[in-house]
This record gives sequence, structure tokens and C-alpha cells, in this order.
Amino acid sequence: MAYKVPELFGSLVFNDEVMRERLPKDVYKSLHKTIEAGKDLDITVANSVAAAMKDWALEKGATHYTHWFQPMTGITAEKHDSFIAPTSDGRVIMEFSGKELIKGEPDASSFPSGGLRATFEARGYTAWDPTSYAFIKDGSLCIPCVFCSYGGEILDKKTPLLRSMEAVGEQALRVIKLFGNDGVRRVVTTVGPEQEYFLVDRKLWEQRKDLFFCGRTLFGARAPKGQEMDDHYFGAIKPRIAAYMKELDEELWKLGILSKTKHNEAAPAQHEMAPIFTTTNLAVDQNQLTMEVMKNVAHRHGLVCLLHEKPFQGVNGSGKHNNWSLCTDTGVNLLDPGKTPYENAQFLLFLTAVIKAVDEYQDLLRISVAGAGNDHRLGAHEAPPAIVSMFLGDELTAILDAIDSGTDYNGAKRVKMDIGVHVLPTFSKDTTDRNRTSPFAFTGNKFEFRMLGSSLSTAESNIVLNTIVAEALREFADELEGAENFGDALNALIRRTIREHKRIIFNGDGYADAWQEEAARRGLCNYRTTPDALPHFVDGKNLDLFKRHHVFTETEMYSRLEILLENYAKTLNIEGMTMAEMVRKDILPAVAEFTASLASTVTAKRAVMPALACTYETVLIERLSALTDMAYARLGVLEAALAAAPANMTTALTGAIYYRDNVLTAMQQLRIAVDEMETLTAAEYWPYPTYGDLMFRI
Ligand code: ADP
Ligand code: MG
Repeated sequence: MAYKVPELFGSLVFNDEVMRERLPKDVYKSLHKTIEAGKDLDITVANSVAAAMKDWALEKGATHYTHWFQPMTGITAEKHDSFIAPTSDGRVIMEFSGKELIKGEPDASSFPSGGLRATFEARGYTAWDPTSYAFIKDGSLCIPCVFCSYGGEILDKKTPLLRSMEAVGEQALRVIKLFGNDGVRRVVTTVGPEQEYFLVDRKLWEQRKDLFFCGRTLFGARAPKGQEMDDHYFGAIKPRIAAYMKELDEELWKLGILSKTKHNEAAPAQHEMAPIFTTTNLAVDQNQLTMEVMKNVAHRHGLVCLLHEKPFQGVNGSGKHNNWSLCTDTGVNLLDPGKTPYENAQFLLFLTAVIKAVDEYQDLLRISVAGAGNDHRLGAHEAPPAIVSMFLGDELTAILDAIDSGTDYNGAKRVKMDIGVHVLPTFSKDTTDRNRTSPFAFTGNKFEFRMLGSSLSTAESNIVLNTIVAEALREFADELEGAENFGDALNALIRRTIREHKRIIFNGDGYADAWQEEAARRGLCNYRTTPDALPHFVDGKNLDLFKRHHVFTETEMYSRLEILLENYAKTLNIEGMTMAEMVRKDILPAVAEFTASLASTVTAKRAVMPALACTYETVLIERLSALTDMAYARLGVLEAALAAAPANMTTALTGAIYYRDNVLTAMQQLRIAVDEMETLTAAEYWPYPTYGDLMFRI
């Protein structure tokens, strides 16, 4: 049967086409004004939109609506209300008003607020974000919303993202006006997130408490085979996985998500999906939806989708590459080098703005990807190090060097560098993307930020990216707007920026130990763990930055910091508790039973013939007994660390540090003993599916 993808695509989305078709002309027009210029939505317009949305949703089989928002939990939240309304004669009709569309009042008291919301004021507000389309999911009309407290403080990830997009749009517009681009009215950022994930069999998953509670394995001896043969990356896709991917594509397409690329990744059972990029705000919403759909579709195939950054020790974990650029409403990608001298100069200015931004706010980029899960990947030779640096490729770097030193560029096509007058050598896109170890790589016409963990919302990273680039562009615009001779000022500014910030550029091997030393010499930040990184969120320069661009207030920043630190501690607490339970209730009893069976074998054998050799049994009994004692002692250390945690949590930061230094270290020690026990225990006694089962039995 031939697929009608164009008909399928966006069939569950109340998108522009549907709006144009179903809304009265004037209503459609004023809604567009709201979307494009951020004008307030008139209630009569809202009523009309709501009515059309409801009729459309009912036709699609929906019975409920929900305000769909992104609280600080990192996942999305929804509270469903049905459309039904009673009539005076005892019947029901389906109703949906403009007021219900625009605003909701969910009880906010159970969402993380970092101390923002006093418990006596539990009310929170959700408000429709008309720049993101409503869609239907599981029989409910979902209305993308922002979420704030009664006092107006933001409690979600969408509001600051929208604010950061406004900030960078405004400053970018100032800059391109200087180049005489008067036709441009708006600049937005664009994002294409590549999403990695693992799939495991649901029946096996159910048997592992660690996967069940923590999303990652806390124990597991290496399987005989891992990823050493490199035979999974881009390998042929197994039928069961192919069926999953096919349905995933269809479900995403229905939701208007441009799922484009799918392939197997480096680790066994690891895969990737990449959509075609879109406006950041939409891309972030859609990535949240994608993660949810990935899990739901897996369920229907008897699989479980693991989005954790490090489900298995010893093979690669999962990340999310955030491809990012700036685009005008006239369709020009501002990070595209272009072909004319004039486009080149503008490109160079935007490029240097990003260089300056990344150098000055390395800490914020690191913070935007911090979390207990991602700490297992960053710097572990499978993902970029915790040090933020930029890869530009040899050619672009040589061009910048030439500008810096005022010498001619001696590249393949020799061109005298005089910005704004001469053409940059055209460099091919391919030469810029050979380095996979860089956290922040220029890939021809966009930057690829590669430090994100697979489970993270892409909101944080893009809030930071947008805002830091807004700040660099603001400084540039301030300087250039006041210049007497634009060309001279531009030349000087680009040269000075390169000189001041070139330390952030590194084209070498980011995984090498030598880079750690070199980065230290260059004075780059290297925050290895989440508790190292997070406190810098509220450093003076960062408070100033977010306040200046109206992205966060100071109170909101402190609240966010608190939530992130608490989240780290809570994650480790759950992991520690799960580990202790697994060892106490399952692993030690299983090993004791196996040891006892070995002992009775010895007794039985010796009863037959006292001198019978029992080397296998006795050696194993000895080693397993030693390991049992070791594991038991380490379990004690872990349990004591967990028990003492509350007393050590005077602040969110001391709590996070305590968990890292006491609980996490105790877990690592315990794991060593248990993993060896697994290698020695007979399969029928071991209480859990092994790494081999989980990664290869699909
Ligand atoms: P890779 O080699 O990393 O797989 P691709 O060319 O396949 O690179 O692109 C990866 C992602 O980058 C895709 O999601 C793509 O849509 C996105 N992308 C391409 N151009 C842009 C852009 N201008 N802005 C944001 N994302 C982009
Ligand atoms: Mg990529």
C-alpha cells in the first residue's frame, strides 16, 4: 500500500493551513498579528479560534482539551478537561471558550518552584503560546502553554525560551540593519535536535529495578560483546526495530514533526532520530513530544525506550546534538558564509559574535547541560569533555588567524582579507565537520552544540545560546551604531574580537588528556560534575546577563538553581536507595544460595569419596564469600551515607555535594564488588537479565 505522507503529515495539528481554512478571515488575520508581533489576543478572536479548534478536534475524535506545558520537572505536564457542558434540559453539549483556550489555573503546588511559590498560594497560571500550534494527542486537544506562579514568576521552560528568542531577535535585527537590510522584519533562531535513544525488550526491562526506577542500570558485568566491532553504527536495522521506527515516523509526522533521519548508533541497541530543523520554540516543543512518542510507541511494540544518558556502563551513552542557527524572515541563514563580500562581512560579524558569546559564557553552556545523568558521559571519551571549546575547521580558523595578524590568507584560494571588500574564499561544507570530539562545532552553516544529554529538554541550552549571542550582538550594535566609518569600525571590531576570544577555538582532539592541560593553560572552565558547575549560574555576570535581556529575574535564577541542585540530589538518592534494595533483597540472597549449593555439592561429593577434587567449588566458594563480605560492608557504607543525607543538606548546594562525594562514591564501590559476583554466579541464580540479554536480545 502506498503511503500518503503529505496527507498524514500534520493531520493532528491545528496548523496555519487549518486555521486559514477554518477561521473567519478577520480572525485569522488578527491571530497572525498576535503570533508575529506578539500583540495581545482579543477575547472575541480567542472565542472564535476556540470554537474552530473544538470543532476540528471533535472531528478528529478528541473529547478533552488540556493546557500542555513544560514545568521544571523536565517533562511535560497536562491536566485534561472534557469539552462537555450540561444544558438546562439535562443534555450535554461540547463547549470550549476563548477564556479556556487562553488561560488555565492548574494547582501549582506540586511542581518544583525552588522556593518561589509560598505554599499558601498554590495557584499557577498557564497561558496559550499561540506561536506553537495546538495538536491532538491520545484523544485530547493539547494547547501549548507557558506556566507561571500567581505572582507572575515563571515556573516553566517555555517562557524564558520565548524571552530569549525575542532578545536575540531584537539584537540581531539591530546588527543587520547596519548592513542596510531594511527588508528584514524579524530574526529567529532555528534548531534541529538529533535524538539518541536505546530500545530494550519490555519483559527484560520489567525484571530490572534499576531500569525501572532510575532509567539506567546500576549494575551489570560487561557482556562478551560490546561495541568494539563497530558493527552497529549505521548497521542494518533489525525487523523489530524497523517496525518501531516506521510507526515512530508516522506518529511524529501526524504531529507535524519533520522526522527525517533514522539509523543505528554506536552502542548495541542504540539508535538515533533527527528531524528537519525549525524555529527554536517549535523545535523545543517538538523534541519534548518526540521523547514522549518514542516511549509510547515502544510500549506498543513490547519494547522500552531508554532516554537516559548512560543506561549501560562500558558502551556509549546517549546525547542530543543541538544544531542552531539564526534566520531572517526573508529566509537568509545568518551563519551561512554567503557568496558576496557583503554577505561575507555580515557572516563574519555573526560568527565572531558567537565566538565571543561562547568564550564569555562557557560556564552557562556547561550549566545548561548539567545533570546527574549527563555527568556519566561528559569527558568519558564518548562525548565532549566538560570543557567548552569551539571547532571551526582549519580553513575558517586560518581565515580568522589571517584577520587577527593582518596578513593575507594563504588558503587554497588566495584572497586578500579586507572585510567588506573582498570575497572570502568559498569553503566547502564538508571540510568543516570532521571533528566529532568538539562540544561546539561549526558545521558549514550552523553550530552544533554536542554536550546535551539525551533526556534533557533542549530549552535550557537554547535559552543560554540565544541570550549569550543576544548580548554579544548588543555590544556589537552599540559599538557599530556609533561609528563614524562603518567599514573601519567593523574591521577593527572583528579583529579585536578574534584576538580577545580565540582561546576558545580548538580544532584538536577533545578526548585527549593533553587537551585538559592545554585548556587549563588557556584559562577555560572545566567543571567536571554538576555540583561544580551549577553554582556559577548565579555569578554576577550571569545575573546581569539574564536581567539585562529580561529572560530571568534574579529571584527566578536562584529558584532555578535550587531546583537543579535538588534534582541532582534527589536523583542520586533514588539511585542509592534502588541499589541498596537490589543488593539486600536480590543479589546477596541469590549469591548466598549459589554459594550454599556449591557447598552442598562439596559435601555430597566428599560423602562419596573424601579425596574427590573440588577445586572449582572451593575456589568459587572462597571468592564469592570474600565478595559477599565486601559487598555487604560497602552496602553498609552506602546505607549509612543515605541515612546521614538529611543532616548534610543545610543548603541545596551542600546537599548536592554531599550526594556526589558520599553516596555516588559508595555506589561506585559497591558496584565493583557486585559486578564481579555476577561474573562468577551461575546464570540460573543471578536475579537479573544481563547486559548481553538487554542489549542483544531484541
Ligand atoms: P549531521 O552530520 O550532524 O547528522 P545534518 O546535516 O544531518 O548533520 O544535520 C543535522 C541537523 O541539523 C538536522 O536536524 C538538520 O535539520 C539541522 N540543521 C540543518 N540546518 C540547520 C539550521 N540552519 N539551523 C538549525 N538546524 C539545522
Ligand atoms: Mg550531528
